[in-house]
Amino acid sequence: MIVTGDIVEVRQIRWADPTGHWGLVPTMGYLHEGHLSLVRRAKEENGYTAVTIFVNPTQFAPTEDLSSYPRNLERDLALLAAEEVDLVFTPADAIMYPPDFQTTVTVGQVSKPLEGTSRPTHFQGVATVVAKLFNIIQPTRAYFGQKDAQQTVVLRQMVRDLNFNVEMIICPTVREADGLAMSSRNAYLTPEQRQAATVLYRALTAASNAYAQGERSGGRLRQIMSTTVATEPLARLDYASAADPLTLQELEQVESGVLFSLAVFFGKTRLIDNMVIA
Ligand code: AMP
Repeated sequence: MIVTGDIVEVRQIRWADPTGHWGLVPTMGYLHEGHLSLVRRAKEENGYTAVTIFVNPTQFAPTEDLSSYPRNLERDLALLAAEEVDLVFTPADAIMYPPDFQTTVTVGQVSKPLEGTSRPTHFQGVATVVAKLFNIIQPTRAYFGQKDAQQTVVLRQMVRDLNFNVEMIICPTVREADGLAMSSRNAYLTPEQRQAATVLYRALTAASNAYAQGERSGGRLRQIMSTTVATEPLARLDYASAADPLTLQELEQVESGVLFSLAVFFGKTRLIDNMVIA
């Protein structure tokens, strides 16, 4: 496994075998089984696998948790070596964003609702860094988690609009035994908050169950989620959404598919989760 922060070296390794297929897994590190599920899928489907570890400053607002974001590069590299990853790209901030950096990628409508309302600059940072990683590594396929549902919609849109020659593969959300979606940010939770955090999964499950029993009112499905979250004293709801899975617009009436999604604060820690019904 080669670990480098150097773009020229990445390109040399990437093109050493010009006919080889590369799978790319972009991450911000502090790896867990969710990340590793993407790595394993990439390994299965490609001759070579690259993982990037980069806590991308441009996707954090000044008020957010960039400086406290959990990091443990040594442990991450040990986990990736055990998976027999070929290449780990760990660029410094100044490599990705040199002082004269001045180009950004802005995806339109699908960036605006949900996370975009609470974090208005977030997806511009995500789209820009992923565009850069695609250009640096030029993967055949790129692997993302359904955990970040809107991110997958925004990045698919970017790939279509800008004609990136990359196949986007979306992998299912990996959960703890009690349903909590794995996330690097779970490390911030106190034991009491960790217990309370199962309310996201409980709220999503309640909405899915109501849907399975015939409930089709978007308003009532959103209310089922928000009232479930309200039963948990340590939780503060940011949003509860029942939206079209492609446009991310809120649905008044569910006709075909629906994306249930939630953002919930526990103290300063903000967790997101979702379930999609096709
Ligand atoms: P992050 O390091 O949080 O930026 O995540 C890197 C990638 O891993 C993204 O594509 C995430 O959607 C994905 N990911 C994070 N958590 C999970 C999870 N619990 N299950 C599946 N994929 C995940």
